[in-house]
Amino acid sequence: MSSGSGTPQRAVLGTWPTPLEPAPRLARALGLGPEDLWIKRDDLTGLGGGGNKVRKLEWLCGAAVAEGATTLVTTGAAQSNHARLTAAAGARLGLDVVLVLAGSADSSASGNLALDGLFGATVVWAGKVRGAELAAVAERVAAQLRHRGAAPALIPFGGSSPLGAYGYAECGHELLGQAPDLDTVVVALGSGGTMAGLVDVLGPARVLGVHCGAVDDPAGTVTGLVAGLSGAVLAPEALRLRLDQVGAGYSTLTDASMAALTLAGRTEGVVLDPVYTGRALAGLRAAVQDGTITPGQRTVFLHSGGLPGLFGHAAAVKRSQDALTDFTP
Ligand SMILES: *Cc1c(COP(=O)(O)O)cnc(C)c1O
Repeated sequence: MSSGSGTPQRAVLGTWPTPLEPAPRLARALGLGPEDLWIKRDDLTGLGGGGNKVRKLEWLCGAAVAEGATTLVTTGAAQSNHARLTAAAGARLGLDVVLVLAGSADSSASGNLALDGLFGATVVWAGKVRGAELAAVAERVAAQLRHRGAAPALIPFGGSSPLGAYGYAECGHELLGQAPDLDTVVVALGSGGTMAGLVDVLGPARVLGVHCGAVDDPAGTVTGLVAGLSGAVLAPEALRLRLDQVGAGYSTLTDASMAALTLAGRTEGVVLDPVYTGRALAGLRAAVQDGTITPGQRTVFLHSGGLPGLFGHAAAVKRSQDALTDFTP
């Protein structure tokens, strides 16, 4: 980190390294050669159902423990994978966890929310707010906790601060060890820390981010995090971004994402989620179709997790079940 105080401390929470697996059947279905496509299994990070937030939380929780925190406080949507994994990290580290979630208690109690409960988290429903307003509710909750004698640590939205993104800089090094000749890593862009860490190590030309609609300024978010991480100043135009997969908005199910879920399931037995990894694979598919990614290049699809979110997304569950084939005697 350019502005940190000393070496950051890590709380080991995950299982490393994650596998890099070939995906020949998916590759062929996309129009690539069978050896062109590999999946980086960051859905298999181990803790709490797995996913990309574990890499960030190792550093964010390391800092919280180092400063003597008793309670982790973070924000997210009702089906936030980040909130779920913060709850799991708190359980693992013996810290209380308060989740400040957008929405209200009548949000269906399944998927990630069910796991939040299992991990023992406390939930504050913040109503219909997002962005700075949601962060302000978390600040107020932290102040109340402090008043009661707790020592809260605020974990940023999506775990995306420069310190959190550092976990993905490490993933960049891990990937270079596994696939030194990689041409493009395709990754979902939510709060931006995952792409930022990868860009910091691999350079902007080797990372294709697929915007999922979670932030208003995806390019500025990523370049800002890269600057905070290493001091590197990148023009937003230097990033490879696809903005064409958002559809009607972050939490909605696009046809392209649903098609991607079906394709990954049927070619490789790999489960994607409707919000992030489904959009990311749909973006990869579109990139092959428009010639941005071509056969013969080594492409890595970063599987960032999200499986519980599938079960918290009624439309995606319904369309998955509707796709069942009945046996005709
Ligand atoms: C949060 C998340 C992402 C996006 O990562 P960011 O670092 O927030 O951009 C991608 N996939 C899944 C499953 C996630 O939970």
